[in-house]
Amino acid sequence: MRLNGKVCVVTAAGQGIGLAAARAFAREGASVWATDVDAAKLEVLSGAGNIQTRKLDVLDKRAIEALAKEVGTADVLFNCAGFVHHGTVLEATDEEWRLAFDLNVRSMFWTIQAFLPPMLAMGRGSIINMSSAASSVKGAALRFVYGTTKAAVIGLTKSVAVDYVSKGIRCNAICPGTVQTPSLDERIAGLGGGADARRFFLQRQPTGRFGSAEEVAALAVYLASDESAFTTGTVNVIDGGWSI
Ligand code: NAD
Repeated sequence: MRLNGKVCVVTAAGQGIGLAAARAFAREGASVWATDVDAAKLEVLSGAGNIQTRKLDVLDKRAIEALAKEVGTADVLFNCAGFVHHGTVLEATDEEWRLAFDLNVRSMFWTIQAFLPPMLAMGRGSIINMSSAASSVKGAALRFVYGTTKAAVIGLTKSVAVDYVSKGIRCNAICPGTVQTPSLDERIAGLGGGADARRFFLQRQPTGRFGSAEEVAALAVYLASDESAFTTGTVNVIDGGWSI
């Protein structure tokens, strides 16, 4: 098992990619702290071996600090929380901009500040940040606020990676294309929910299908494990060819 003995923390583990990653980490032998702002969503994990659940709102700095104290030293921090706003620069509101930067970017600043010092003391750690193909990788239609924040995640990732590369800390970004998750279903419903709405997302994917949360989780397992020990500061695109 590739994560035997490792302690892994996952944000937004209540559904979608975070949930798949929490399960995959545990299957690989890790002790997992699966967190989400919505405690009810975490109930699907109750009774799962090697997984503890905690309610955590990544907009709450004190709560992040309290969790870091409770966990002690984590080997792996997977920052998965994020939210997609729809629209162009002319449609975006100040409120959407603020929430997107707080949730998609500032949350990582805070979790890394909280979890990195014990990693440094231990001399190793893998930080995985959820970006998106819709970022500096690719301009995606109607993703102005979202793409801007996910590009910031790549800058944040490289900054952390370069500052701690000689201290045993790795920091990598994951950039998925369109992945079948509950929030994708909500976005399709938000565009009317019919075949046209589904086509809007599907036509972006040249493979003709959406990615699965499990496919992205498998990449997270690799980045969490020692198999990727020579990998840091990287932008890992997993997008079914969207950005070719
Ligand atoms: P999702 O959007 O279906 O679920 C998100 C989870 O985040 C929910 O369980 C929700 O309760 C939780 N959450 C929301 N606000 C939170 C907060 N303040 N604190 C903690 N948790 C909070 O999940 P997903 O679609 O798998 O997306 C996960 C990540 O992957 C996001 O960062 C998203 O931007 C990114 N991503 C998703 C896709 C996709 O197509 N689904 C593509 C590229 C990137």
